[in-house]
Amino acid sequence: MTRCYNFCAGPAALPQVVLEKARDEMLDWHGAGLSIMEMSHRSPEVVGVAQRAEADLRELLGISDDYAVLFLQGGASTQFAAVPLNLAGENDLADYVNTGQWSKKAIAEGRRFTRVNVAASSEDSNFSTIPPRESWQLSADAAYLHYTPNETIGGVEYFWVPEASAPLVVDMSSTILSRPVNVADYGVIYAGAQKNIGPAGLTLVIVRRDLLGRAGDKCPAMLNWQTAADNDSMYNTPPTFALYLAGLVFEWLKEQGGLAAMERLNRRKAGKLYAAIDSSAFYANPVEVQSRSLMNVPFTLADDALDKQFLAEADAAGLLNLKGHRSVGGMRASIYNAVGEDAVDALIAFMQDFEQRNG
Ligand code: PMP
Repeated sequence: MTRCYNFCAGPAALPQVVLEKARDEMLDWHGAGLSIMEMSHRSPEVVGVAQRAEADLRELLGISDDYAVLFLQGGASTQFAAVPLNLAGENDLADYVNTGQWSKKAIAEGRRFTRVNVAASSEDSNFSTIPPRESWQLSADAAYLHYTPNETIGGVEYFWVPEASAPLVVDMSSTILSRPVNVADYGVIYAGAQKNIGPAGLTLVIVRRDLLGRAGDKCPAMLNWQTAADNDSMYNTPPTFALYLAGLVFEWLKEQGGLAAMERLNRRKAGKLYAAIDSSAFYANPVEVQSRSLMNVPFTLADDALDKQFLAEADAAGLLNLKGHRSVGGMRASIYNAVGEDAVDALIAFMQDFEQRNG
């Protein structure tokens, strides 16, 4: 068996030991004579898996009892609608900061349900910057302030938390669990699972309990955070297998030394890759240096006529999914937690070799 290096933006690489454990437990989970995915979500086995996953996640992120942890479905995209439906009425005002394609989608969906003020945007710089906090035009009475701490497509990441009087609502899909965060800074954190949490199909919402119970009557039960919290995320059938796998990922993260250890590793990986890009006239990354993502590293070749060849040769060398998002072109290496330093080293060696042959 050969496992390739996988730089996919999501669904992304999973730790090999997690996949092996899932394989070993596939037919007979802990002697139950069944797979975990064949069991009732109300069974003590599955409830136990969900409770352990939540406890481990709380430990990893330092989530206090002031917050509910919800395991939902529908991806981060469903939360683009759930956020206004849970926090703002039609005539309320919500502030959004636009730093890229995912912010834009959140804004467009938000507009269906509430009044949106785009407080700042980096569209003028082609989303290669984060507008400085001093430039944000926040509303006096916003129901919440929404922003995207890591733009997966543009590779732009906040390394600071904005001050604001409204609760901060953040789409952490592509940065969650990559480094420690202070959960108490936020009102709501949400994320699709398929980068650093587990497989697709699971969506995480961490919500400060005082923000529950604000949804209007028209909010569908499946989007209502209060309903999910009241039912321990089992109002309907949750994605039990995805939740089980996420639990294995959380255990793995604890074994790695938790999020402080992941941050050290992730900074080293990203630092090497950006250094390789910056030291070459052949490769370029457009993002302002202080906002470069630790997880998603877009880069271009000096001559985009070479893109196809670069990707074909990378594939042949076992370096997969380096194609940039269809909206921006070029390349993108997503280097989430489960992408080891060996993968980054192999990518850099390939890039240097490719440049030597074609530069
Ligand atoms: N937000 C961000 C930052 C993302 O990276 C993605 C997916 N790549 C989404 C939202 C959409 O997530 P989903 O596919 O889970 O709806």
